[in-house]
Amino acid sequence: MYDVEEIRKQFPILQREVYGKPLVYLDNGATTQKPLCVLNAMQEEYLNVNANVHRGVHYLSQQATELHEGARETVRRFINARSTSEIVFTRGTTEALNLVAASFVDEMMQPGDEVIISTMEHHSNIVPWQLQAAKKGIAVRVIPMHDDGTLDMEAYAQLFNERTRLVSVCHVSNVLGTVNPVEELVRIAHENDVPVMIDGAQSAPHRYVDVQQMDCDFFAFSGHKMYGPTGVGVLYGKEEWLDRLPPYQGGGEMIESVTFEKTVFQSLPFKFEAGTPDYIATTGLAKAIDFLDEIGINCIYEHESELLKYCHERLQEIEDVRIFGQAKEKDAVVSFLVGDIHHLDMGTLLDRLGIAVRTGHHCAQPLMERLGISGTVRASFALYNTKAEIDVFIEAMKRVVGMF
Ligand code: PMP
Repeated sequence: MYDVEEIRKQFPILQREVYGKPLVYLDNGATTQKPLCVLNAMQEEYLNVNANVHRGVHYLSQQATELHEGARETVRRFINARSTSEIVFTRGTTEALNLVAASFVDEMMQPGDEVIISTMEHHSNIVPWQLQAAKKGIAVRVIPMHDDGTLDMEAYAQLFNERTRLVSVCHVSNVLGTVNPVEELVRIAHENDVPVMIDGAQSAPHRYVDVQQMDCDFFAFSGHKMYGPTGVGVLYGKEEWLDRLPPYQGGGEMIESVTFEKTVFQSLPFKFEAGTPDYIATTGLAKAIDFLDEIGINCIYEHESELLKYCHERLQEIEDVRIFGQAKEKDAVVSFLVGDIHHLDMGTLLDRLGIAVRTGHHCAQPLMERLGISGTVRASFALYNTKAEIDVFIEAMKRVVGMF
């Protein structure tokens, strides 16, 4: 039994009002709210354990290290990686993508070599490649998209040539909700001896992720989009790849020994973790994963799928609504426009009625260009949203549309 009211009790913020109206929070694609168990675990560590990890022989440092390394094991289990050596803590998806872009291009690519991305990428999976393109003269190739928001897989297969070195695509689009066929994307890339990076920022909170089954070579996600704290995320990388890549940043924690002549780097995953990690946030992330596990990621998936279906159905009641992203495989995101009402006007008026949605280009300007629009209104759902909230949202939309 999925008891959404019980779940909501873990999120006091959902009880608050804005402009005297009950808050309806539908901006979960940007960030999710945090349950009490996550906040309590972080406060408990600050209050009773706090000490820098890995370095101290003293009791607190060892306890903090156990929590931090225990969190790594929790993440390993969550995505079914083979070993904790394959779990690198980063500040988030963006940093994980930048890490791979910098280290992979540095070690594995020559001027003229190519990276394949897709039309529906977030800027964080575009700009890091462009920065490398400017530095090293690599080329970025783009998988085109069909009008329903699915990737053109035939065109994808045609993009490979002897210069292709890496594919980097999102698992789930933050605008369209499209769930990309990652196993197929990986299979085709591997047939061409090309590794694959998956941006899982929008999939890890919503659906079961098994990196071994997917067989991707790298996978990234952010804690704050899955009920964990800000400032922490994960880069999964197959050990064979992480071993081959140079460090991303230098500093403490990532070294075995240093002289002025030469530095020997630490083993995996520490080679990629320079400086004091946000060990309080890793505890919070592990707690968020426990929280997801307790509810059950498949139950969450079903609950959110029902919300998505219901929202799609009810949006049809609104004249001139255009929904962007009609893939059969779609996660809990709805992007839309109504008639010629500007997305910003719609978002601002919905806000006045207590409804938090996202408006604009959603950090995916090339996708907006492909769709021929400047932005959308986006409602994105989480495990604590309800059909009653969607009813409030639809009624508010009707009011707003009525004003124009
Ligand atoms: N990729 C996708 C698909 C996203 O939705 C986001 C966040 N909107 C990111 C990457 C970047 O995540 P972060 O800002 O947490 O690094």
